Amino acid sequence: TYAIEARDVRLAFGATPALRGANLAVTPGEVVAVMGPSGSGKSTLLHCLGGILVPDAGEIHVGGHRVDTLDETARSTLRRDRFGFVFQFGQLVPELTAEENVALPLLLGGLRRADALDRARSWFDRLGLAGLERRRSGELSGGQAQRVALARGLVARPTVLFADEPTGALDTLTGEQVMNLLVDGAREQGTTVVLVTHEARVAAYADRTVLVRDGRVTADEPARVGS
Ligand code: ADP
Ligand code: ADP
Repeated sequence: TYAIEARDVRLAFGATPALRGANLAVTPGEVVAVMGPSGSGKSTLLHCLGGILVPDAGEIHVGGHRVDTLDETARSTLRRDRFGFVFQFGQLVPELTAEENVALPLLLGGLRRADALDRARSWFDRLGLAGLERRRSGELSGGQAQRVALARGLVARPTVLFADEPTGALDTLTGEQVMNLLVDGAREQGTTVVLVTHEARVAAYADRTVLVRDGRVTADEPARVGS
């Protein structure tokens, strides 16, 4: 059985078709990179799988849930309790400290503040961010902020982590650091990962790469095709 199964997913923004019958199956614990030209529908596919967007047609099953037919409330609960998200620009709350940002999904999930902060803090060492727990996230560097965003994406042990260009705003070395942490963290927790990227170097961290073109998944390729 699959962690993610999308069948014939279609979505248009007005007159612009973004997905035209996308199919994708991902096994539990698999790390899948989604590549393809700009505007081909990668982000839209990720948003549909993650219950952020609702497709016009098709079927999406994630972790045993039929995501595309849930109402907004149920999707929002699913996103909060089962999914993690990391985007290109970390989207941290700048007024909150780094540890408060990491703790957010746990707090929203109802964990006591002290426990949530404890668990959040346990990530800082391995992220190479020891000592920055209380720093306002608005004062972190780009690479630091993205590592904090990654910890926030993984802290609640999500079934699936959705990452959209998580290294897009980072230099090569920092990007590699973030990808190592992402893959190690996900593997340790058995988290399935869907990773949108346009960089072959980043896709090489995945178990498998799929290509999106004109709103369809056109090819599965082994990940290590070189760059
Ligand atoms: P990619 O992630 O591969 O760059 P997207 O999924 O962002 O592609 O976009 C696919 C197509 O849908 C593009 O033509 C894009 O302009 C369009 N699109 C994406 N989001 C929106 C939106 N919110 N409103 C209108 N058009 C959109
Ligand atoms: P990507 O890096 O995936 O190509 P974009 O920079 O194209 O993303 O889009 C960034 C955001 O803008 C996305 O949330 C997407 O949904 C939205 N978007 C993309 N194209 C359009 C569009 N033509 N009209 C409105 N929103 C769009």
